[in-house]
Amino acid sequence: MLKTTRFLTPLFCAVWLTVACAVPSAKRTSAPAAPWQPAPAAPAQPVSPTTDVEEKTDPLELPAQAPQADQSSSAHALKIVRVLLADNQSSAEIKHSGRVYIYTQDLEKKYKVSADGTLTVRFAGNGNVQVGTLKSNQPIIIEPAKDTLLTWNNNVYSGKFFVVPAQHTFLLVEHADLETYLYGVLPYEMSYSWPIEALKAQAVAARTYTLKTLEHVKNKYFDLYSDVRSQMYKGGGKQYPSVKEAVDGTKSQVLTFNDKLFYTYYHGNCGGGTDSVSSWNPHAKSIKPLAGAICEYDSHSKSHSWKQEVPMSKIKSYTQKEGLGGNLKSIKVAHKTHTGRATQLLLQTSKGKKTVACNPFRLAMGLKSCKIKEINIHGNHVRFEGRGYGHGVGMCQDGAAGMARSGKKYTQILKNYYPGSTLTTLQ
Ligand SMILES: [Zn+2]
Repeated sequence: MLKTTRFLTPLFCAVWLTVACAVPSAKRTSAPAAPWQPAPAAPAQPVSPTTDVEEKTDPLELPAQAPQADQSSSAHALKIVRVLLADNQSSAEIKHSGRVYIYTQDLEKKYKVSADGTLTVRFAGNGNVQVGTLKSNQPIIIEPAKDTLLTWNNNVYSGKFFVVPAQHTFLLVEHADLETYLYGVLPYEMSYSWPIEALKAQAVAARTYTLKTLEHVKNKYFDLYSDVRSQMYKGGGKQYPSVKEAVDGTKSQVLTFNDKLFYTYYHGNCGGGTDSVSSWNPHAKSIKPLAGAICEYDSHSKSHSWKQEVPMSKIKSYTQKEGLGGNLKSIKVAHKTHTGRATQLLLQTSKGKKTVACNPFRLAMGLKSCKIKEINIHGNHVRFEGRGYGHGVGMCQDGAAGMARSGKKYTQILKNYYPGSTLTTLQ
């Protein structure tokens, strides 16, 4: 009974953390409860010759006490983020490198697998999900023991997986601690082979962006997507040494403005100068760190200057969707920022003309940026010439790499691209 009580209490904390503690604050002064993790010293169990799960009627040999938090760890470093790995799944194969615990959210059913293997996860009808032989209409949790890694879709994870039933499908959500999550973000947002000071700047930007995003979570089961809707993430179980150095070397560091986190946007290449966030999103509040900056270090990249050709048919279907029929006669920049980034384009056809916002147009056409210098119609295609890659707000990643190569520290890089911000260490 005592064991059961001990089991329930830390789990409650873990669940509570995701709901109540997942709201970041640069001002937080009290540490949230340490999230619960299995202790490494669970007694040895007979190794099942199969990879099927073994049901336990007794409480599992889960930790008898909450893990000893690293005394040097800050509270935020233990913050749990819930990342949606996949939705609309009907089945999945999850490999585990060692012991895993499998249980339903209400703890009614508990299983353990003592050796490495593969778990089959599937939607099992009537609102149920099934992991191995465990079936439930509640989320099923797959918790790796310490040093066990989970592999799904060729990516490696160290957090707990939640298999959440949805209509006729399930969601696969990982609960990972923030710093481990960053190990799985950095190499996909910036190359791990880039200079360490650029990677450190990226780590601070990604950490801040993540925590800011958590302030506005609306979904019951997850906080972040694992793609560009949040940040690219492919699991924190595989750690590149340079990425680990950058994340660990900036542990707990975020950027603030007026003591508040802000969206530390970043992009590939600004083409010589970044722009105000309002040039990209007219509804966004333009604060000083997102008001634009000079960039003198990004011309080495092939994204700095480009030429792209777009088929006329693609543009025609766009103008038709915008309610403008006829054949395209011309495209002109109708309005641009002081750095030369178009905010609006004027499309003229044989039937009329219309002004459209540049950003949705460039995304639909696959153009690298709105910093468009030349537009020429050539027969059945339109040639665009421009500069930069991405929205041009916040940190220019190519510029960050250029600054790092010229000997600048990550603090100088951040100061350049987010002017007026403060590097803050969360307590
Ligand atoms: Zn730049």
